Amino acid sequence: MGRYSVFSIIKNGLTGNQGWTATWRSPAPKPSYDVIIVGGGGHGLATAHYLAKEHGITNVAVVEKGWLGSGNIGRNTTIVRSNYMLPANAHFYEWSMKLWEGLSQDLNYNVMFSQRGVLNLAHTPGQLDAYARRGNSMRVAGIDAELLSPEEIGKLAPGIDLSPNARFPIVGGLFQPRGGTARHDAVAWGYAHAASERGVDMIENCEVTGFLFEEGRVVGVQTTRGEIRAKKVGVAVAGNTSTVLRLAGLDKLPIESHVLQAFVSEPLKPLIDTVITFGAGHLYISQSDKGGLVFGGDIDGYNSYAQRGNLPVIEDVVTGGLAVFPNLARLRLLRMWGGIMDMSMDGSPIICKGPIEGLYINAGWCYGGFKATPASGWCFAHTIAKDAPHKLNEAFTLDRFCKGYVLDEKGVGPTARLH
Ligand SMILES: Cc1cc2nc3c(=O)[nH]c(=O)nc-3n(C[C@H](O)[C@H](O)[C@H](O)COP(=O)(O)OP(=O)(O)OC[C@H]3O[C@@H](n4cnc5c(N)ncnc54)[C@H](O)[C@@H]3O)c2cc1C
Repeated sequence: MGRYSVFSIIKNGLTGNQGWTATWRSPAPKPSYDVIIVGGGGHGLATAHYLAKEHGITNVAVVEKGWLGSGNIGRNTTIVRSNYMLPANAHFYEWSMKLWEGLSQDLNYNVMFSQRGVLNLAHTPGQLDAYARRGNSMRVAGIDAELLSPEEIGKLAPGIDLSPNARFPIVGGLFQPRGGTARHDAVAWGYAHAASERGVDMIENCEVTGFLFEEGRVVGVQTTRGEIRAKKVGVAVAGNTSTVLRLAGLDKLPIESHVLQAFVSEPLKPLIDTVITFGAGHLYISQSDKGGLVFGGDIDGYNSYAQRGNLPVIEDVVTGGLAVFPNLARLRLLRMWGGIMDMSMDGSPIICKGPIEGLYINAGWCYGGFKATPASGWCFAHTIAKDAPHKLNEAFTLDRFCKGYVLDEKGVGPTARLH
């Protein structure tokens, strides 16, 4: 497939663009592999890349029921940040941020990572104190954080309503300058390209319908394109975790599946050049390079596997947006869609060996799995290759829920809609 470079652009430009080849290979499945990854979303593709690059394991297949990137990796609002407080989360997400910072070069693919900053607005002195505490703990962990005054927020985001008579007056905010956004599809395509270059097979339109067992151990998968055997099977299917792992006999997981919706407005001239979150409700907003405002809020309040949402959440999210930016009141909505979230019961992920030999689990991404993509793939690849977790994911076990070692970052326990 060759490397992308300025020279390949010039050469193809001069030769009628006839020389471009497919970004990844989609061969027929082989009878067996060293590792099968179920799920061609961001996490599955990143795992395949790091298995090949970091551990030299290239006899790998990514098995995807639709097309690569058809799930949440192509549906999210693309926010990247590492503003966590609990040590396990803070170190994991900061490692992800470091991988993001070199990702386009690593993959030889422009993922359009833009460090435009992430600003969390505070609306009460108590909330600002909590942000100061979070910011201090981030700085102790070596992560960038700044507490901003309303005047500094006004300079950063001129369209914001800073008047003391606002419905939810802004008293300050926590800013992470290294946070930002990336182009979600390009992340899937880039990981697929880089993994495929190293020999990984991308098997699309191939749904896993069961698991193969021998002497109690997982030895492969049944699919709509036949049986495929493997020494190890990693499952990274995000919102479908409960349905897929039920096929392996695991029917009691600390995960609920919910719809999360995203919205894009008609394009505007540059107005918001950072990512902003509203502190008196649930709203996050940024502006894409094409000019559309990209925003989202809460999950819908019921369990579902349908990738579409309902009207009350639209109203709730839009109301939050207008509380911060009243000048958007006449803006038109262009598109909206939904994705299925795997909400874990403490809001933190699960990256571990499964309770069955040969099976490995990557799940529980809740609202924030896009930013985790690089570190999740990196840690999952390590866990599969070494049969043991890396220090960065050793806390993200499945059995922490029965042992009581939950990682409850927001202190809201098993209330999925609050994570
Ligand atoms: C609307 C929305 C906004 C979001 N915003 C953000 C954000 O701003 N920042 C952030 O960090 N995170 C965000 N997220 C969360 C993030 O997108 C997800 O946590 C993350 O993408 C999940 O990991 P993934 O990319 O591997 O999932 P997916 O892309 O969903 O990949 C899972 C894949 O598994 C496949 N699959 C399922 N069942 C089978 C089967 N039986 N056989 C084979 N394949 C199967 C699916 O088809 C899918 O392609 C958002 C999510 C949504 C829906």
